[in-house]
Amino acid sequence: MEAMKPPMIGEIVAVGTELLLGQIANTNARFLAEKLAQLGVDAYFQQAVGDNPSRLAESLKLALERSDLVLLSGGLGPTEDDLTKETVSKLLGRRLVPDPAVAERIREVLRGHRSPVVEKALAKQSLVPEGAAILPNSAGTAPGLVLDLPGKMLALLPGPPQELEPMVRDYLIPHLAAWLDGPSTQFARSFLRSRTIKFCGIGEPVVEEAVRDLLHGDNPTVAPYVSIGETHLRVTAKAASAERAVSLVENMVCAIASRRPLSEHIFGFDDDTLAGACGRRLREHGLSLCLAESITGGLVGHLVTEVAGSSDYFERGYVVYGNRSKSELLGVDPEMIRAHGAVSEEVALAMAHGALDRSGAGLALALTGIAGPGGASGAKPVGLTYIALVGRSFGQSGGETGVRECHRYVFAGERQLVKRRAAHRALTLLWLRLGRRE
Ligand code: ATP
Ligand code: MG
Repeated sequence: MEAMKPPMIGEIVAVGTELLLGQIANTNARFLAEKLAQLGVDAYFQQAVGDNPSRLAESLKLALERSDLVLLSGGLGPTEDDLTKETVSKLLGRRLVPDPAVAERIREVLRGHRSPVVEKALAKQSLVPEGAAILPNSAGTAPGLVLDLPGKMLALLPGPPQELEPMVRDYLIPHLAAWLDGPSTQFARSFLRSRTIKFCGIGEPVVEEAVRDLLHGDNPTVAPYVSIGETHLRVTAKAASAERAVSLVENMVCAIASRRPLSEHIFGFDDDTLAGACGRRLREHGLSLCLAESITGGLVGHLVTEVAGSSDYFERGYVVYGNRSKSELLGVDPEMIRAHGAVSEEVALAMAHGALDRSGAGLALALTGIAGPGGASGAKPVGLTYIALVGRSFGQSGGETGVRECHRYVFAGERQLVKRRAAHRALTLLWLRLGRRE
């Protein structure tokens, strides 16, 4: 009976001295952990170990003692320090044998790059542990290897993410799913599914308060996260089938999305970005956008153009960092800058109007501020930022005056963070303004 079967325990072992030295981030572990969860395998442990045979053997022994499915990443390459395959074979007492199909595939990839060094590498890479199943590598030469051990499974995967990720998606997951669903497996699967609801223009405490009664549930779970200028709620459910887990998540997402005051602050889900959400609203209104950036030095423009198809609505951006450029490019009166300072409401509005007039766009956003650490003066602290939004009228009522607003903020944090907060706030203002019914 399904209920009597224990869940399968998964473990990820990332091999590479670079990981231990902090030279690269262990994105393979992140990727594999996500895939194990989707597959319904409980990942209880992760290890990182250097390119050292005895410590790798130690890690492997531990992993095979306590886990049913062990995924290794890294060290499958052709060089001397790549020793995962050799260490695994020795530990399991399997011979390394040349695999003609693997050798042929490597020869194909390396056609035109033959040399004695390449030949040696080829010879090393075409050896596989006896009895291993081969996972094709569509982006490189080292194949993935799966070893079916009594009641356990061990997979060896290449280190480079551009090789590991397609291999896992296209070959390892189908292989594991077939095995888990096969008649001989003694493991139950439990499927984890998640969805992230993304809010802006509303603080985390307000979001949390609105869902307080849901935060201690255990299936689905609801967890709040904060990122710059955004609050996220991650809804996660576990069930015996993927469909059931999805429906538990969707029901909870709908329930949360209909709660006040949350509903009008949801700009997207999962991988959606605020800039993308702004783009959708600009498109809906048939408006084009123009930017005049001082403090953010083009960061808002970068975020806007991260979205595919943004040329449909993004007209142009001015990076006007120095005072002279504000006057020369946008017609800001130098006298106004002298009188009020470049970081002032007057100048922010003048930048926005100048950009609007010159570009002919429907809306213009302008930012001016003090990113720090220097530049502060008595009345103007580091982080002080003015964001202006001006434009022609839009929306249902077609009001005559159009848009003209300027907001003052003091953003906390170091230079980079101040810039990012300012850019996000500008997009938040834009998104909220575009969503408002006049
Ligand atoms: P190669 O054939 O390139 O040598 P390999 O399978 O031997 O591949 P490694 O030598 O361990 O893999 O790592 C190669 C590169 O892959 C690393 O320099 C790094 O850029 C990337 N890489 C390795 N492990 C990870 C990891 N856990 N997360 C992210 N990237 C990784
Ligand atoms: Mg290598």
